[in-house]
Amino acid sequence: MKLVVLIKQIPNTSNVRIDPKTGNLVREGVTSIMNPEDRHALEAALSIKDHFNAVVDVISMGPPQAIEVICEGLAMGADKGILLTDRAFAGADTWATSTALGNAIRKNGPFDLILAGRQAIDGDTAQIGPQIAEFLGIPQITCVSALELSDGKVVANRIIENGCERIETPLPALVTCLASLNEPRYPTVGRILDSVLESTPIEIWNAADIGVKAQEVGLAGSLTQVLKTFTPKGGRETQYLEGTPSDIASGIVQFFVDRQVRLGE
Ligand SMILES: Cc1cc2nc3c(=O)[nH]c(=O)nc-3n(C[C@H](O)[C@H](O)[C@H](O)COP(=O)(O)OP(=O)(O)OC[C@H]3O[C@@H](n4cnc5c(N)ncnc54)[C@H](O)[C@@H]3O)c2cc1C
Repeated sequence: MKLVVLIKQIPNTSNVRIDPKTGNLVREGVTSIMNPEDRHALEAALSIKDHFNAVVDVISMGPPQAIEVICEGLAMGADKGILLTDRAFAGADTWATSTALGNAIRKNGPFDLILAGRQAIDGDTAQIGPQIAEFLGIPQITCVSALELSDGKVVANRIIENGCERIETPLPALVTCLASLNEPRYPTVGRILDSVLESTPIEIWNAADIGVKAQEVGLAGSLTQVLKTFTPKGGRETQYLEGTPSDIASGIVQFFVDRQVRLGE
């Protein structure tokens, strides 16, 4: 059984700032981490590997330093890492990202299940998993909180607003994973050493390696463009009321009356 896990390196968002002059993200000096839900997707794949005779490959597209998340994936227990890195991939929107990742998955050969995070906490679109499933023409189950494999099928709980759906689909398929799916394991010391000593395989592929032309990926292959990035202005207004409880209660009522808020409707 072959499992493919998509992992994205993202800036540690607690540190992210936007340059007020250029409107661009300030990436200098910002530490990078594995997208949190991707860690849960990888844990799900590794748990399947613990119970079945499975091989787990991790794939990431990003700049050369994204090899750090590949190494982390290997240190958690993945068998092979693939980094897609090429200047031609730069500036990709989700369409171009899915084109590159989809072609890489095809080149990597037959698979049974692709696991991704539901959403990357920097790009935040939640489009990559569904787009790749469409690109590859396979069924998908998104927002998965529980997962079982049996008899060539995947059965998953899918969280929806106010409830949960239980869905079954034949393999090969793609699932996008939520944090509630599991508790990710820590990398072991032995496997960290293996990945540092490069005894676990990492393949580095460029656009030509995955058989795409430069105009199909990156900025050139993107169907959308970011026109502007900006921080929305905060709009909270604080007003302190003083006096007796009766004064304060009257003040609150007057506050709503002044703003023409109708009470009791
Ligand atoms: C119009 C537009 C222009 C953009 N321009 C740039 C740019 O110039 N530079 C830039 O850095 N970013 C750019 N981005 C962001 C970049 O396109 C997205 O980060 C990328 O397409 C993934 O989308 P997402 O982060 O919303 O992923 P989501 O769809 O939220 O991610 C879901 C899951 O897909 C998988 N996944 C997502 N991305 C990757 C990846 N790269 N490798 C492996 N797995 C992955 C992960 O499992 C992840 O949990 C742009 C986005 C848009 C919409």
